[in-house]
Amino acid sequence: MIEKDDWRLLNDAEFLRGQYLDPVSSNEIIEHLPKLKNCLFCWEQLPDKLRYYQTWYIDTERTICICEKCFNDFQTYFNLKSTDGWDVEWE
Ligand SMILES: [Zn+2]
Repeated sequence: MIEKDDWRLLNDAEFLRGQYLDPVSSNEIIEHLPKLKNCLFCWEQLPDKLRYYQTWYIDTERTICICEKCFNDFQTYFNLKSTDGWDVEWE
């Protein structure tokens, strides 16, 4: 759920409107995109790699990541779309 004045919207995420995001495991982000450390919206940190992994979402430019909860909360608001995650390639 999001409130009209949800504090997470203070982070400017307008550039994400209508974008496709790739669902990936948090471990893949830690391994391949170490500069990404926090959810764009809620600033939740990526979980400790050794303990468990979660599904997170990354944009096609690989500049931001979003936790699953925020993706679900903001999917409608920002018209976010999820790919099937099968075509994610790591450089
Ligand atoms: Zn979040």
